[in-house]
Amino acid sequence: MEIARFATPNGTESTRCEACLWRCVLHHNTTGRCNMRTAGPEGIVMHNHGMISGATVGPVEDHRLWHFFPDTVVLSVGSWGYAFPVDQERGGYGAIPTDPAKQRILEPERVASFALNQLCRGVVWSFSEPAVSAEYVLDVLRASRASSRYTAITTTGYLTMEVLNSFGPYLDGISFDLRGFGDTAYQRLAGVPHWQDILEIAARARRYWNIHIEITTRMHHGVNDDPKELRSLVNWIRKTLGEQTPWHVLPGDAGTGAAAAVFRARRLGHAGGLQFIYGSELNQPTQCPRCHNTLITRNKGVVRMVGLEGGACNNCGFEPYLRTSIFKAKPLARAAESGEADKAAS
Ligand code: SF4
Repeated sequence: MEIARFATPNGTESTRCEACLWRCVLHHNTTGRCNMRTAGPEGIVMHNHGMISGATVGPVEDHRLWHFFPDTVVLSVGSWGYAFPVDQERGGYGAIPTDPAKQRILEPERVASFALNQLCRGVVWSFSEPAVSAEYVLDVLRASRASSRYTAITTTGYLTMEVLNSFGPYLDGISFDLRGFGDTAYQRLAGVPHWQDILEIAARARRYWNIHIEITTRMHHGVNDDPKELRSLVNWIRKTLGEQTPWHVLPGDAGTGAAAAVFRARRLGHAGGLQFIYGSELNQPTQCPRCHNTLITRNKGVVRMVGLEGGACNNCGFEPYLRTSIFKAKPLARAAESGEADKAAS
């Protein structure tokens, strides 16, 4: 059993887990809310370390990353465990199977070499919450980057700043599951009382680490579709992450109420200045927000960058928010902290 690195002693009798935002204080022989970590005399033991729940090969667009290495194939891997109680109740990948034959281990280096052998341009952490497998995810990101694969995670954002900062140098993209913009919505849809720190995680990822972010929100009528909260959500995306940040707005359930909520949310998003909003319809293209030229087509799973030349619209020259290279420009926020922005300005 591996001992957690994202943990600090809390007196002599307990240890604080620093992987997700619960920051559980665990006394010996007690297990955290995720059911994946138990404190012992040596520290916190991780039950899911190195385990994978699935590994699939497919288009990166499946992860609602539509402006991120378009038309590339990724290896998607994930483990077991969620941070949100609501997700745990739903089942899925929340519990390690009791059958030892299903407790599969995959070394991080083998994840990377498998991606290479399958001609995958990147590796995406999916299925489970990366925060509760933070140590393993970090090793997978490092190994994947060492073999020149791009990297991304799908997350609820419920990870600590320590974990984000460890991922930062090796992480290119985040598919960010933002469930709403209010206490009641987060209590109902995630089961957490405090959610605002999630916003700090997204802001830091974008501004300091220059990680590409796409936001997904599933609409639940009467839960997270309050117009005032949605306006705040849209404003936050625009001001913090940028007006070109893609926002994927999907129905949270099959009811007509959810479909109407999606329609209203998309309208609010456009009115609030977001330039790329997507729904659940098939074959949605990406259009230039300036001249409406079609930049990217998506047709039955086939993605084509038809209206782009050198990353810009081939009709009007507009440069859309797209990530197509693993070489990241150093963002201004990080340059400012290291004093480079001042030097450059003087
Ligand atoms: S990963 Fe989160 S829920 Fe699990 S023990 Fe650590 S702080 Fe608690």
